[in-house]
Amino acid sequence: MNEQLVANTFLYLTNAIVFGVLAFLLWQFYRGFGSQHVKYWQFSLQALTTSQLTMTVKAFTALSSPTSVVQVVLEGIYQSSYFVFVSLFLIGLYIAQTQKPLARRYVVAIAGASFATAWLFTLVYAFADGHVYDRFFMRETLPEFLFGLAYMGMAFFSYRTAPVHVSSRIMQVSFVIYGLRFFVFSMLSTFMVAEVWFSQVIRFFAFFDIGSHAVIGFSMLIWMQGAERSAANSAKNKAQYLGRHDSLTGSLNREQVLEKMPELMRNASKHNKQLSIFLLDIKRFKFINDTYGLKTGDYILGEIARRLRDSLFQPQIVGRLSGDSFVYVFEFEHRQQISRALNHLHELIARPYQYDGQDIMLQCSVGYSFYPEHGDSAETLLQLSNLALFHAESRNEASKQYSDDMQVQGRHLLAVEKAIKLAMERDEFELYFQPQLNLLTNKLEGVEALIRWNHPDDGLLTPNQFLPDVDALALNSALDNYVLDKACRAIARWHQAYRRWVTVAVNITAVEFQDPKLVPSIQALLLRYDVPPNYLELEITENVVMTDLQSAMDTIVELQTMGIKVSIDDFGTGYSSLAYLRKLPIDKIKIDRSFINEMAENDSDLTIVKSMVRLSHGLGKRVLAEGVETQTQLDILRTLDCDAVQGYFISKPISEADLVKYFKR
Ligand code: C2E
Ligand code: CA
Ligand code: CA
Repeated sequence: MNEQLVANTFLYLTNAIVFGVLAFLLWQFYRGFGSQHVKYWQFSLQALTTSQLTMTVKAFTALSSPTSVVQVVLEGIYQSSYFVFVSLFLIGLYIAQTQKPLARRYVVAIAGASFATAWLFTLVYAFADGHVYDRFFMRETLPEFLFGLAYMGMAFFSYRTAPVHVSSRIMQVSFVIYGLRFFVFSMLSTFMVAEVWFSQVIRFFAFFDIGSHAVIGFSMLIWMQGAERSAANSAKNKAQYLGRHDSLTGSLNREQVLEKMPELMRNASKHNKQLSIFLLDIKRFKFINDTYGLKTGDYILGEIARRLRDSLFQPQIVGRLSGDSFVYVFEFEHRQQISRALNHLHELIARPYQYDGQDIMLQCSVGYSFYPEHGDSAETLLQLSNLALFHAESRNEASKQYSDDMQVQGRHLLAVEKAIKLAMERDEFELYFQPQLNLLTNKLEGVEALIRWNHPDDGLLTPNQFLPDVDALALNSALDNYVLDKACRAIARWHQAYRRWVTVAVNITAVEFQDPKLVPSIQALLLRYDVPPNYLELEITENVVMTDLQSAMDTIVELQTMGIKVSIDDFGTGYSSLAYLRKLPIDKIKIDRSFINEMAENDSDLTIVKSMVRLSHGLGKRVLAEGVETQTQLDILRTLDCDAVQGYFISKPISEADLVKYFKR
């Protein structure tokens, strides 16, 4: 008997040590991984260790009365820790299988309920001396039956869900065996608890339990290892993914697009289908970054990529080629699909973007080409789509399909781009000046700076010969800044040489006027050349104002506060109205020369000019008439009370050398 006691004590102690070590190993895993199921498994093994330690003490003190307080408390600790072990172990397994986290409160509730149940079962017949069998039923038969149910249920559940690792198969099998073991034991215990040999059965099951607990413990470890490996793999995959994808939007990058295209083209021709290569460019995206900040910009790019990927037409490729340009490739059979796809793309982009409670609106331009119609290499097709996009943008059209004549222009632009940049470096551009005459004082009001290109081969070029190219190449900002610099230098120079300040009006394109850097860079120029701001005037067209009224308004107010004048050029040809202009603090309205041209012969033009002058004066703006070519026109304008005139009749645009002669007079 004494021997048996020692043997049992050792048995449970060994158990406790093994599970203690397993719990420690799992703890290490948990620190490395931090996954929820490892945490609960680790707690469950701690509970198991506690139960085995309690059993060790119980086995050692087995001779004392089972109804003594010490024995009841030990039994309670044993039961409750074992219940908690089973519940936490199964919860961990459930989480590991479903790979979904479980809210902490559920875990606490389940573990707490098991804990309470265990104590309830322990205490029911705890101090009733005669009820040996009832006590046995509550502490052994009933719990074992419940565990059997739980393990079988878990085996069934894990069988229904896809196996996560090899160890989940091992666990399934051991659960079935385990569940059976508990059922068998609870059956046996109901019928044969009184048999003499039953204590041998209990010993057998005790050994069995060591084995099965060990199996469970080691399956957990194997499972962990599998998880570790797959985590490492997914980290590697992620690194690869990031290498090949653009990390901001998760779309393919340029190389990846080029890599993927050949396969798509092969597939398409095999199935007698075509590919459309859409290239999207988000309009004025730069301003999103400038106005709302880079974070908003990044968010929007990600959102655009997501919309494109999830789009109805199920694109074969969504890639981001650079900052705000995306490629969208889709397979089609009939041409009609293209116009629908285009509408869809524009709608996708135009849907408002919500960020920080703001609704941001965007538009895009699309250029596209077809495989195999336009080319059979990925590189070529992207280039052609890009060329088409370029055309769409420079003509302000929403979408443009590639056509062969674009290529000619493309080559032309490529050559011109080099030439224009070189011309700026070599200072081949020259400013001509056209005087503006004040009709009230009959004196020079100022001059308008008009650019000319002293082309090394083609001679003196006028703006209409190269400005369209500058525009198409998006070099307007560079050119405008170049002209501004030249104009300021001229003002300073004349002041030095002739002691007089001459106002110079400079034409500013829409792109440049919307650039937030415009105001600070003008400020810097004025400081550098020591020019008072009121001798610089900027000419913008109505369309600049209409594109974005608020931002134009802000810029004009800023310029005016600095003392710089702003006038509206080519008035009457755009789509604004004087009603809009009323709100703007502009100084001057320049009536377009087309109205002046016919004014003497055409009554309706005369009426228009008359009312333009009257309305402008009503709004407190000065009026200048452009393109005055005859004495008659000048006389009419005088009677209409026009403030100033400019045109060939006064003077053509002249070189600086000629203008200086005029000063000297
Ligand atoms: P604009 O701003 O309307 O400039 C007036 C244009 O009308 C000038 O042509 C001028 O030579 C012409 N003009 C002046 N008086 C008369 C006239 O009595 N009759 C006729 N038929 N034409 C007259 P230019 O110099 O060829 O400039 C054409 C356009 O190029 C300008 O129109 C302006 O929009 C643009 N431009 C010229 N220089 C610059 C510049 O430095 N920067 C920018 N961004 N644009 C410029
Ligand atoms: Ca002008
Ligand atoms: Ca004009």
